[in-house]
Amino acid sequence: MLEVKTKVLISGGGPVGLTLALELSRQGVECLIVNEQETTSTHPKANAINARSMEHFRRLGVSSEIREAGLPENYPTDVTYVTRLTGYEIARLSMPSRARALEEAKAGTSPYDCAEPPHRCSQIYLESILYKSALQNPLINVLFGYRLESFIESESEIIANVENISNGECIIIKADYLVGADGGRSMVRRELGIRYEGEAGIERRMMGGSMMATYFRLSRDLSWLKISPSWQYWIVSSDFRALLMTVNGKDEFVLLSRVQENTNNDRIDDLELISLAAGCSVDAEIILSQSWTAGHALIAESYGRRRVWLVGDSTHLFTPTGGLGMNTGVDDAINLAWKLSALVNGWGGPNLLSSYEEDRRPIGLRNLAFAKSFAESIGSFEVSSNIESEKFQGQEERRVLGSFLADHGKREFIIPGIVLGVRYENSSIIWPDGTLPVRDDPYDYVPTSRPGSRAPHVWLSGGLALCDFFSPGFTLIRQNQENDINDLLSAANDIGVPISLLDLEHDEICEFYERELTLVGPDGHVTWRGDALPQNTINFLDRIRGM
Ligand SMILES: Cc1cc2nc3c(=O)[nH]c(=O)nc-3n(C[C@H](O)[C@H](O)[C@H](O)COP(=O)(O)OP(=O)(O)OC[C@H]3O[C@@H](n4cnc5c(N)ncnc54)[C@H](O)[C@@H]3O)c2cc1C
Repeated sequence: MLEVKTKVLISGGGPVGLTLALELSRQGVECLIVNEQETTSTHPKANAINARSMEHFRRLGVSSEIREAGLPENYPTDVTYVTRLTGYEIARLSMPSRARALEEAKAGTSPYDCAEPPHRCSQIYLESILYKSALQNPLINVLFGYRLESFIESESEIIANVENISNGECIIIKADYLVGADGGRSMVRRELGIRYEGEAGIERRMMGGSMMATYFRLSRDLSWLKISPSWQYWIVSSDFRALLMTVNGKDEFVLLSRVQENTNNDRIDDLELISLAAGCSVDAEIILSQSWTAGHALIAESYGRRRVWLVGDSTHLFTPTGGLGMNTGVDDAINLAWKLSALVNGWGGPNLLSSYEEDRRPIGLRNLAFAKSFAESIGSFEVSSNIESEKFQGQEERRVLGSFLADHGKREFIIPGIVLGVRYENSSIIWPDGTLPVRDDPYDYVPTSRPGSRAPHVWLSGGLALCDFFSPGFTLIRQNQENDINDLLSAANDIGVPISLLDLEHDEICEFYERELTLVGPDGHVTWRGDALPQNTINFLDRIRGM
């Protein structure tokens, strides 16, 4: 039997597993990724890539390509609430096209204070870009069409049994670490005996219970679609609730419909669902039709242990409201990758990997609660049949519901605090400085360099962002070149902790960086700040590397 050796074996080549592989390679670590399916996803699940994920993709060198793959440059990313697609528009949240969003980010007028504003791009396109990038990377071995069947963990390694789906042949893979990026049904999580906690399949009128995803192409005349172009169209009527999203800003769409419980999926007529949404008979080419369940608010009781760790949907399963599932997983992957690489490269301490759970599980719980609150808001109200009436009662119902939905839209889709305000409060590797945390407000992101926070974004000269200068290891930002940091750099060098120095003038990085020295971790979160180095540099280094 063929035997292969690698440093990190990743089970699952979805968006999170692929991001993990790319970040590991950025840290200089070789990995092997196995994925049961032969291709990347053909189901356009996620379509909202948030600002933090886009920042990560920028560091991985793929953000421009991902932007190009999203909705056309000037296509509006509005969210509209309608009775039917041929009916009444009840409310609209105007949001910028991709070109406009970039201009706003550059001008500092975006609600998202960062280099990479949120982006509307289907998971289908995203995955294929990440996959292509992984294929081209000499440190990443990609085996799609291979399933992880079993594994055993010893003191010194993982021995995994992987099967080629097409011919049944098995490969033994020996690795230092195994990561389960294998989705909601994660075999790795179940093998570890780790359960999900929380609620599954909460029933709602929308985004709770049995759902159908219909991916289709409209080949002919689109003139019946009276609602002006939007990224998302929420259909709100008394007999039907659904969400229609444009996939390519042209002729491809995905319809997420709430279907009756216990409906036999074989009996669901996708064309009928599309026609219900449209309010007229529509002919479409069905590309893919899949049932799924909304209303999950689940989180793994643990994120892993010793040599086996979990990321993405294998640790948390949310209802997609707020677009937080994949995005939280991408952020998990970035946190885990540098810690695994520190261990593989020999400078990480025995407590480093457990800090992954200390950092990320509270964020999983936080984002799960936000996703659930949005689902409750959009999925729990009743609508009468008057909503489609042209009479006074209909106008009145549309006015009242429209005002609620206009407010809901802002609360679900403009969430800079949720996306950029992620902070690690319980981390054993971060040095608190005694200052109080800024408020964790979903709508109001307060940039801060308080330890544990995401290092605030600043535009530097030449159109580059501060994060463009962060190295794969730690980055020490110094605002006073007379501040002697040589002790720290040479002690770090002795034990192999990668720290690079970034000298900047105070005027360049403005008021967010209040201390002369700020140490930014490999994941872009502040690890420590101060006007002088801690007295005992060895203790300091031992803490940040999890000794
Ligand atoms: C309708 C819908 C809309 C969504 N919209 C959004 C959104 O806008 N924004 C957002 O952030 N999230 C959204 N999500 C959630 C998002 O799709 C998931 O969170 C995301 O796919 C999780 O990525 P992952 O890599 O963790 O897992 P997955 O995408 O599930 O990938 C896991 C991979 O592991 C493979 N695998 C499983 N078992 C094995 C094994 N034993 N061996 C080898 N391979 C294995 C599978 O084949 C799969 O390719 C949406 C979800 C749905 C259903």
